[in-house]
Amino acid sequence: MTDTNAHAPNPEPNGAPGGKGFARHLFAPVKISASQALDLLVPFRHSQHIRRHAAQVIISRIQLVSALFAVLVPLFAIIDWMVFPWPQWLMMTGLRVASALVFLLLAWPWDSGKSRVQADAMLMIMLLVPPVFYLLSIEVNRGMLHGDFGRLVTSLYALMPNIVLAGLAIFPLTALEVAAFSIPAFAFAVFGIQLSGQELALNQHGPMLWLMVLVMGVAMFSGMSQLHYMTALVNRAMVDPLTGAYTRRSGGETLDLLFRLAALQNLPLSIAFFDLDKFKSINDSFGHEAGDAALKTLAERLRQGLRGGDVLVRWGGEEFVAILNNTDAAGAEIVIKRLRQMGFGDRPDGKPMTASIGVAERRQDKTPDWPHLIELADQRMYGAKKGGRDRAVFPGNRVLPFGSAPIL
Ligand code: GH3
Ligand code: MG
Ligand code: MG
Repeated sequence: MTDTNAHAPNPEPNGAPGGKGFARHLFAPVKISASQALDLLVPFRHSQHIRRHAAQVIISRIQLVSALFAVLVPLFAIIDWMVFPWPQWLMMTGLRVASALVFLLLAWPWDSGKSRVQADAMLMIMLLVPPVFYLLSIEVNRGMLHGDFGRLVTSLYALMPNIVLAGLAIFPLTALEVAAFSIPAFAFAVFGIQLSGQELALNQHGPMLWLMVLVMGVAMFSGMSQLHYMTALVNRAMVDPLTGAYTRRSGGETLDLLFRLAALQNLPLSIAFFDLDKFKSINDSFGHEAGDAALKTLAERLRQGLRGGDVLVRWGGEEFVAILNNTDAAGAEIVIKRLRQMGFGDRPDGKPMTASIGVAERRQDKTPDWPHLIELADQRMYGAKKGGRDRAVFPGNRVLPFGSAPIL
């Protein structure tokens, strides 16, 4: 549940400090930093957005593949009827129907939350069906290899673990996840060799196991590159290119999630709504580019002053929302005083930039949902404007003036 960089993810993967050597070539022409490369190897630092997006992709692909198999697997019973004698063909057909039912359940469009845990569980079930089918089919056909065709079909079943590994290539997974999801395929391959009455011998089974390792390697490469491009696209869509803060949409999604988590655990959650004072006059007197530069500086200052778990959102033109996770109003006051002391940057004429700030807190304001929290903070921000700007208004309409000379 950790976030790589809670303020906002890297807005421009192309602009990341170029990676070195292998990783640079692997993902050319896109440059990749060491930190991004690590995120392709292990999933532990992925943000909630990436986890959720990956879960959606994984689940929709599982549903697609499962729907296909729910139809194809029973169809292949025709071959079993041609190859296997009674009662083996009936047992094989039974196995096929059971597998098809599992695939049907996986393909079913349940109205669920599509969490990453659910995606992983569904993937594991889908990957387990073919090897279990394979092992049971070995049992069913023990000593029943009739003719060349029968031997051909049985050896085709033995390809099952490789097919499972190849199937992993269609999912956006880290290298570690591909390795973990490959374990059942390897276990079943080895178990299958023993179950079919053979000794595991390197000279005989080595090539098959080596092929499995190669297929797993290809699946890793495919999974990592899908994850990389997915992450780049999601980050680009989530982040405001000028300031590097979350966009209103992704910020709203994050706030929704954090609000629900805080409500569930009855923890405080504060937001601070910033609107720069007399910002329009910067544009009017010094041009839009000077205004843009001031916004960029402000976002940098805010990011420096916020803690790792806080989230900065560009809510509108020169309006920013800081989501202060697990922070009550008293904590928010400390943060805001610190931010104000660090400064919001200078106006092009050298005067300090100031902001009107409205603060709302989930528990103290007894807000039922996050839009109410935003609305309250917005109202208080307007209260700060009306009260003379360069000040913060807290729950209970308590005013904290900062006392700089008003900007005219
Ligand atoms: P105050 O809030 O103190 O009442 O005065 P203000 O001048 O800041 O008024 P307001 O918040 O209504 O003005 C917002 C201005 O911000 C309007 C617009 O010109 C400017 N703005 C919004 N987005 C951008 C942007 O991306 N770049 C630049 N340069 N200016 C922007
Ligand atoms: Mg404004
Ligand atoms: Mg303003």
